[in-house]
Amino acid sequence: MEVQEKKGYCTLCRSRCGTLNTVRGDMLLQVRPDTSHPTGSAMCMKGKAAPELVHSPNRVLYPMRRTNPKGAA
Ligand code: SF4
Repeated sequence: MEVQEKKGYCTLCRSRCGTLNTVRGDMLLQVRPDTSHPTGSAMCMKGKAAPELVHSPNRVLYPMRRTNPKGAA
């Protein structure tokens, strides 16, 4: 499958840093700062770790529901 670079922005906090995203199909491979974007001069480590977060097997994909009554031990 072809590797592509797509422009976007990080949504992990309110700063919305501009990003260049390397993707192959549905896989996010790498995220880099997009220096042509007004907020893309740099990215923090959390933003750079986006591929690891997105594809983590521990990621919660659906809202969790309480199965015991409130206050239960
Ligand atoms: S890269 Fe970091 S600072 Fe920028 S939007 Fe993402 S989480 Fe926020």
